[in-house]
Amino acid sequence: MNNLYHKDIYKFDEPIKSYWETTINTSNKYKTFEKNTKTNILVIGAGYTGISCALSLAKKYNEDVVLLEAGHIGWGSSARNAGFCCIPPAKMSVKKMINKHGKQETKKFFKNTVEGSNFTKNLIDEYKINCDLTGDCNYEVAPHPSYFDSIKEEASLYKNEFGIETEVFAREEFNEIGHMGNEQYGAFSYKPGFAINPLKFLLGLAKEAKISGVKIFQKSKVSKIEKKSGKFNIISNGHIITANKIVMATNGFYQDDLFPKLNNRILPVISNIIITRPLTEDELKSHNYVTNNPVLNIRNLLFYYRLLKDNRFLFGARGDVIGSEKSSIDKSKKMEQQMKKVFPNWSHVNIDFHWRGLVAMTAKLTPSIGKLEDDEIYYSFGYQANGVNTAPWSGNELSKLIISNSKVLNISKFYQGLPKKFPFPKLRLFYLRLYLMYCSIIDR
Ligand SMILES: Cc1cc2nc3c(=O)[nH]c(=O)nc-3n(C[C@H](O)[C@H](O)[C@H](O)COP(=O)(O)OP(=O)(O)OC[C@H]3O[C@@H](n4cnc5c(N)ncnc54)[C@H](O)[C@@H]3O)c2cc1C
Repeated sequence: MNNLYHKDIYKFDEPIKSYWETTINTSNKYKTFEKNTKTNILVIGAGYTGISCALSLAKKYNEDVVLLEAGHIGWGSSARNAGFCCIPPAKMSVKKMINKHGKQETKKFFKNTVEGSNFTKNLIDEYKINCDLTGDCNYEVAPHPSYFDSIKEEASLYKNEFGIETEVFAREEFNEIGHMGNEQYGAFSYKPGFAINPLKFLLGLAKEAKISGVKIFQKSKVSKIEKKSGKFNIISNGHIITANKIVMATNGFYQDDLFPKLNNRILPVISNIIITRPLTEDELKSHNYVTNNPVLNIRNLLFYYRLLKDNRFLFGARGDVIGSEKSSIDKSKKMEQQMKKVFPNWSHVNIDFHWRGLVAMTAKLTPSIGKLEDDEIYYSFGYQANGVNTAPWSGNELSKLIISNSKVLNISKFYQGLPKKFPFPKLRLFYLRLYLMYCSIIDR
């Protein structure tokens, strides 16, 4: 195993001390894999990607599916993210996208990403998942006056080229409908956009997958995969499961240990969240914080934040590059300072929760959905930190690929195929450090 980060971040057997865990009844009845068995399709990883794919395979196509999860059901990033359903899952400018695959493919990409948000929303409606859905748009906020022109440009591009509903707000206008603060120099909104309790959504999806016949096992890490007579022998907890097809849905927690063809293609990046104690009405008023919509401060090293239903304030940012418990604590203290710099009237407010997890970035800078050539191995990963929008939809698209005999999906090229392997993959964190240093200089 070639872990890039400290082993602390891969403690699959330890619960995540997130705020979301305190919002649910924790009785969890999923079994552990402890008997040799056979299946047609084995899904590895029970985040949104894996569960959505397994649910669709079992429910729509009546397939025999087993789902193995290394942690408990509700351990991965899907259960501990900030719950923003935002677009697009790309770390590339629209201009670069058009240069790469042309205008039509870029339009198709934005059409697909809007479908992604609607897909997540439809799952919530269809299965009546009570996941505290809030908000009716997303806001992107200019952290400095110099960003306001780019906010206006993006809003007009979204509206005129991609048919996305947008609205621009000058600083004074956003003071009224959003919030005031030190890094608020105007904003724009786009729809669709909303926020959820990610853990409740994940558990709701897992429940539906189970009802639909998916055999779900938790605390069942896949440690090895062998191929014998055209079938896969997958080893977990010392037992073997034999399968015809495998779905890799491990995203940022993939440890470059199962398939050489998939190794070294992901740069896992830590994202951290802190949550305050509930704010009083007076404290909220002190920054005129009146919105429940998710907010993205578009500095180069993004800040993302939103008000929760019990008036706690969630604040997220890129994490550290070490991964130990200590580095996580240090980072959350730094983030507390950053948050209080943006919202100085809350400088006395305590932080009640902090945690972190891994998102998957790739050299391709857009998601990767597909099948390995000459092998029944399917994959979907690399949502560039936009999994609430992209992962459930991608899992569903992947199920179509598995069922059809066609090698391609009718989705934008930006989503399809593998990203390139990183050159000198052991240096991935070094590349990340350089990038973070560069961004923090610009942000200053
Ligand atoms: C702190 C944080 C905040 C975020 N905020 C947002 C947000 O607001 N909006 C948004 O859109 N996205 C956000 N993201 C990103 C989002 O959570 C992910 O893109 C999304 O959850 C990916 O879903 P997934 O199912 O592909 O992966 P995961 O949910 O990470 O699931 C992968 C699973 O694979 C399992 N696994 C790994 N190896 C093995 C193995 N060998 N055997 C068995 N199981 C294995 C892991 O235990 C894990 O549960 C955030 C991420 C983090 C960490």
